[in-house]
Amino acid sequence: AGYNYGLPLSSPRAAKHVEGQRIRVCVRKRPLTRAECRRGEADVVYAPSGECVVVCESKEAVDLTEYILQHRFYFDQVLGEGSSNEEVYQKTAYPLVQHMLSGGKATCFAYGQTGAGKTHTMLGSSSSGTGLYALAVQDIFAHLSTINTALLVYVSFFEIYCGQLYDLLEHRKRLFAREDGNKVVHISGLREVRVDSVSSLLEVISKGTAERTQGMSGVNPLSSRSHALLQIQIRDLNQQIAGRMWFVDLAGSERASDAKDPNKQSRMEGAEINQSLLALKECIRSLDKEESHTPFRQSKLTQVLKDSFVGDSMTCMIANISPGHSATEHTLNTLRYADRVKELRGEIGPIGRRRRRSKMGPSDKNMSDSSSSNKR
Ligand code: ADP
Ligand code: MG
Repeated sequence: AGYNYGLPLSSPRAAKHVEGQRIRVCVRKRPLTRAECRRGEADVVYAPSGECVVVCESKEAVDLTEYILQHRFYFDQVLGEGSSNEEVYQKTAYPLVQHMLSGGKATCFAYGQTGAGKTHTMLGSSSSGTGLYALAVQDIFAHLSTINTALLVYVSFFEIYCGQLYDLLEHRKRLFAREDGNKVVHISGLREVRVDSVSSLLEVISKGTAERTQGMSGVNPLSSRSHALLQIQIRDLNQQIAGRMWFVDLAGSERASDAKDPNKQSRMEGAEINQSLLALKECIRSLDKEESHTPFRQSKLTQVLKDSFVGDSMTCMIANISPGHSATEHTLNTLRYADRVKELRGEIGPIGRRRRRSKMGPSDKNMSDSSSSNKR
């Protein structure tokens, strides 16, 4: 980094995060929606502790008796349906914002099936209040008001759909990413808006979000088929970067299975999403492995985020999951993906020692425990 315009890290939790963990993988389970309750959807996900999540899958044996298969996973943090966006922020993005404010680079991803709560987490909603974008922005401006150095805040917001970039702050203008001679990736023509207050930043974000939903066509809203990338940069008066942070609201992970859809457009979108989510997983993992080769060129998403996978970057992935029984398969896919992201550290770090069968959970006599995370 080299920059330190900031105060020392204020919270012990943040300091611990910076020293010990560059990748943090968290799970957020949303509550059943009113519509799901009306349909009689059963809640099949429970969190016996702040680090464990269990999915109960109903199965039929050969003799047609029903049994419950329990899939157990461990993560850095599991946030249940009772967690507010403020709590989620404190346990996920907050340490990253602190890292950014001390001159570093940070990236926070919302991953998961469409309808699992990615946008609710990032953007929030009118009823639930603010999301991670706004909470981070508040912390950034609060911090800047306490220091003597004059620093500027810039924001850019764009979308990646089928491997192409569209500027959400410039009426979906097509953008192009290029790597220069120094292997730095630039997005030419990207609009960067300078903002001087929390409210002006939130206004820019809401304008970009409106572009995102208005651009929808066909049956599936575009927002489920594209990645939305928000970048916040802090610069000094010479335009030198003094901290940067990405928030990425990823395309619905279930879209990756559209790669086999008979409809050509869906197939193309699905293949693209599949490719980018696989590349993302590999790129995040390589951050922990200190590998010199990061496969960031394998997708547009990882190419534009290249900087996030090298050096002193910190990453947090929030895997959003739905509680309902009809989403079980997608929920398991999401948890397996997230598990893979932290797998390497899990084998050598403290998470590995916690892998054991828990005695908690529904006491069905026919129940078997698949303990997905324990299988290697
Ligand atoms: P995604 O962006 O992953 O497709 P959304 O964020 O749009 O999903 O969430 C789908 C629905 O569920 C929305 O109506 C949203 O308000 C609701 N929802 C999501 N997460 C929560 C939560 N933690 N608490 C309450 N409602 C939620
Ligand atoms: Mg969304």
